[in-house]
Amino acid sequence: MRKDYHNILNVPRSATDDEIKKAYRKLAFQYHPDRNPHNKEAEEKFKEINEAYEVLSDQEKRYRYERFGSADDAGSIFDFGFRGNFDDVFNDLFGDFFGGQRQRERKGEDLRYNLYIEFEEAVFGVEKEIEIPKEEPCPVCHGSRIEPGHKPSVCKACAGRGQVRHSHGFFTINRTCEHCNGEGFVIKDPCKACRGKGTSKTKKTLKIRIPPGLDTGARLKLRREGAQGHGATTPGDLYVVVHVKEHPVFSREGDDIAVHINVNFPLLCLGGQITVPTVEGETQVTIPPGTQPGEVFRIRSLGVTKTNGYGRGDELVYLNITIPTDLTERQRTLLEELANEFNGDTDVTRRGFKEKFKEMFDWKD
Ligand SMILES: [Zn+2]
Ligand SMILES: [Zn+2]
Repeated sequence: MRKDYHNILNVPRSATDDEIKKAYRKLAFQYHPDRNPHNKEAEEKFKEINEAYEVLSDQEKRYRYERFGSADDAGSIFDFGFRGNFDDVFNDLFGDFFGGQRQRERKGEDLRYNLYIEFEEAVFGVEKEIEIPKEEPCPVCHGSRIEPGHKPSVCKACAGRGQVRHSHGFFTINRTCEHCNGEGFVIKDPCKACRGKGTSKTKKTLKIRIPPGLDTGARLKLRREGAQGHGATTPGDLYVVVHVKEHPVFSREGDDIAVHINVNFPLLCLGGQITVPTVEGETQVTIPPGTQPGEVFRIRSLGVTKTNGYGRGDELVYLNITIPTDLTERQRTLLEELANEFNGDTDVTRRGFKEKFKEMFDWKD
């Protein structure tokens, strides 16, 4: 049974991230178990609110939910670190409320990765491995920043408290100790391997599944795969931006795939079969007699999987008339005969034109 997450959070489908966050905060605060002890109904409601927020607050999950009706499809695109969302909001919500025992998160930088995929890969979806730079705890000092065998010294300026007290008359103000940056200790022997940074640069391989139907500009968010700079308690996010390479034959028109086929003038007049490439292989298209230049033929359901999850677009076949520039003797003779046949008949109707052309064709046989 599909739950209506928008309804649960009481937000419109078009709600922005901010509106969703606000709605969630309001409801989570109202139904939080700490404020509603022994209230089964509130507990259920709280669970539901969290479930809705888990999906709608995550770009990728929301996308799936709104288009495919389910956020946790077996073909889920990424391994999500969902806790991130909640920690952020709960810090805002309850950090002060409950005495501030939660440490405020400091998020690392978001990273952007440009992923180039082939046209067919965008049409059918694809799994890709990408290599991203990653900062990991230094393997020598395990992130402590201290050369192994040494110890940090207690900061003398703040006596290890991390804060210093300034008195202004009646007031005392606590300030972060500048000497130790609030850490309460100083490192006299920084780790040589990482030069006291506590991190080392490596590379990480990530598997990404690109769902079918994405086009250039589509953005996938991988939670917590961004940078974890010095001082950040949580890594930033990684945004994978999709770029679809141009195809020599096909191009996209939304969910439809366009293909341009060169045909000669007699074919449009007389009609016939043409072979048309599609992303599923070649197929035959019947051109009726008297087809006008500019007419588009539609092959149903051979386009791109619609991102709303319902069916596929079509393939659009555009016919280009080619005018030969290197006629053989025989072709020239036949065209001259045809021209004579049409002589003075510059305002031919479509029907009359076709008849005459047929005559010529019969005569040629
Ligand atoms: Zn180190
Ligand atoms: Zn200090």
